[in-house]
Amino acid sequence: MSARRDELAAGLHDVRRRISVAAEAAGRAPEEITLVVVTKFFPASDVRLLAALGVTDVGENRHPEAGDKLAECHDLGLRWHYIGGLQSNKAAVVGSYADVVESVDRLKLVGALDRGAHERSHAVDVLLQVSLDPPGRSGRSGRSGADAGELPALGDAVEAAGMLRLRGLMAVAPLGEEPRSAFARLSQLHASFLTARPDATWLSAGMSHDFEAAIGAGATHVRVGSAILGERPTFK
Ligand SMILES: *Cc1c(COP(=O)(O)O)cnc(C)c1O
Repeated sequence: MSARRDELAAGLHDVRRRISVAAEAAGRAPEEITLVVVTKFFPASDVRLLAALGVTDVGENRHPEAGDKLAECHDLGLRWHYIGGLQSNKAAVVGSYADVVESVDRLKLVGALDRGAHERSHAVDVLLQVSLDPPGRSGRSGRSGADAGELPALGDAVEAAGMLRLRGLMAVAPLGEEPRSAFARLSQLHASFLTARPDATWLSAGMSHDFEAAIGAGATHVRVGSAILGERPTFK
């Protein structure tokens, strides 16, 4: 266990250093950037060690694994981010336990999340996930994230829901494209989203291999897993 603690401490130290360097290069303060440590596929014991090392935010991408881990770790006072694809029949239960849902990409999810949040009488922070696929490059299959044109209607629906708070946007850089150019598009999308919704200031972008580029494009939240916890097991 203490060997694992040392491993996680070293990974965290390295990632925090990379965040500082990237923030400074972008003329930003490192404190503006929230590190969400993605603990999917790793056990609750790792979450506990991370909390003891000062981690405040964790990310999970699958139900029910996320809810089970949260239940084991509810005493730690962490903020739980749900970052995975959401099926509409599971959205209510995810809304009943997550603190932040980063992957809202269609209208159908909004009512269900709101119902789940009501059950717990706890407001849920919401990010709209936007697709960064270049126009015309990929069909609907396999793509996650709303089209940019769908964001205003989605934003309206989240703002109208009593227990949801619209916080901003989330995206994943598409495979096969330089992350810097994808995140530049995201930065523009966020700027235009902000003109109508000035409170939606969060921008969640960047993973282990590309978070420096995301910080350069204005990310306020980076989602980092393998650079801290090690390679995930490849089986599903
Ligand atoms: C798994 C995952 C991450 C973290 O990926 P790493 O490459 O391990 O840092 C970030 N965002 C989302 C949406 C993920 O599913």
